[in-house]
Amino acid sequence: MKFKNSEKIYEKAINIIPGGVNSPVRAFKSVKRSHPIFIKKGAGSKIWDEDNNEYIDYICSWGPLILGHNHPRVLNGVKEAIELGSSFGLPTKMEVELAEMVCSCYPSMDMVRFTTSGTEATMAAIRVARAYTNRNKILKFEGCYHGHSDALLVSSGSGLLTDGYQDSNGITDGVLRDTLVVPFGDIEGVKNYLKNEDVACIIMEPVPANMGLIHSEKKFLEEVRVLCDETKTLLIFDEVISGFRLALGGAQEIFNIKPDITTLGKIIGGGYPVGAFGGRRDIMNMIAPVGRVYHAGTLSGNPVAVRAGMETVGYLMENKDTLYKTLENNVQYLVDNIKKFSKLYNVPVCVNSFGSLFTIFFTEKDSVNLLQDALEASEEKYAIYFNTMLEEGIVTPPSKFEAHFISIAHSQEDLDRTLAVMEKAFKKIS
Ligand code: PLP
Repeated sequence: MKFKNSEKIYEKAINIIPGGVNSPVRAFKSVKRSHPIFIKKGAGSKIWDEDNNEYIDYICSWGPLILGHNHPRVLNGVKEAIELGSSFGLPTKMEVELAEMVCSCYPSMDMVRFTTSGTEATMAAIRVARAYTNRNKILKFEGCYHGHSDALLVSSGSGLLTDGYQDSNGITDGVLRDTLVVPFGDIEGVKNYLKNEDVACIIMEPVPANMGLIHSEKKFLEEVRVLCDETKTLLIFDEVISGFRLALGGAQEIFNIKPDITTLGKIIGGGYPVGAFGGRRDIMNMIAPVGRVYHAGTLSGNPVAVRAGMETVGYLMENKDTLYKTLENNVQYLVDNIKKFSKLYNVPVCVNSFGSLFTIFFTEKDSVNLLQDALEASEEKYAIYFNTMLEEGIVTPPSKFEAHFISIAHSQEDLDRTLAVMEKAFKKIS
């Protein structure tokens, strides 16, 4: 495989865009490559780079593309919407329709507001929680990522972990003081903070997927819910990844737990920029112009993006009875075979999976349930895995701290081809 064109583009990019990328998770630094690949197009389960190399894609834009690249239904909807205009700065009927669709899938949401990213959704959700409770502090879990607003770049996951740190520079001491952090699963830590501090809300990924995929216990989530009720602390489920992915109604449907506020993103935009936050009516009515919690956006509820979201969510609603099971079975098929390779080639791994998500941790540990476990997994072995896959036409996350995503476009042939290359990778690592 040749990467000449990507290399040339990167040489220009690093002079003009920090690191040559517009989001650090796109860099290939931690997998020991001199430059990322630059992508030209995508269709179904595949993407093509500027050197015309074809890849089966397990990044899928980090989650939005549960239907695969350029699904015809989404593409046609977007084309129709574009013909009508790009953006009006006035409301459209489609925003109301998408809001109804979203709230019908999430019984915890009486009302919803659209944003253009998951970051804006979590940022606004926290602001509302602070106003509602009249308290300042927030509590998050170690290694969870909730976007790049100041308050949430503390003990964060995703690209920060990949680059070897957890708190971003440039955040004031006040913000650092107001964000409390405990390890995922540490109910005593949660209890201690909720009983002794002025906590407005807990924000959590109900299934953490930004330190690699981490298992989540229903019991822990239930205990968090009870503690929030007892202390009148709001519970925010950040379902930017898990929403519409683990089930139509997200992790909250699977675990049967109602958060006070839910944040969404990725899939609700079907590959276009949409985020959302929503919850109980009394909470959401704090927001301007009803109340005085300001949230806005020139492109919030953009008609083209909203149409992509409607088509994506519409497809999921119509096919939910079979689609989620198929995705889960396909991931299970990969995971079962990865475990076989692990034994056959004596390469210890722990594979965490949930629905259409999975992470391979190269570790001797039987389980990876905490940030510390994920940190201890081998970066060197992951890099060999990543590079073997890439050079044989399969794109996997360029970091051990991210999940693999599959879509409904991934065929049996794709899965078998992927496994054949995975076997080579395990042979190389052994
Ligand atoms: N919340 C979670 C759980 C995420 O995984 C992400 C992004 O990966 C975000 C929030 C931020 O979303 P965005 O990248 O759209 O700003």
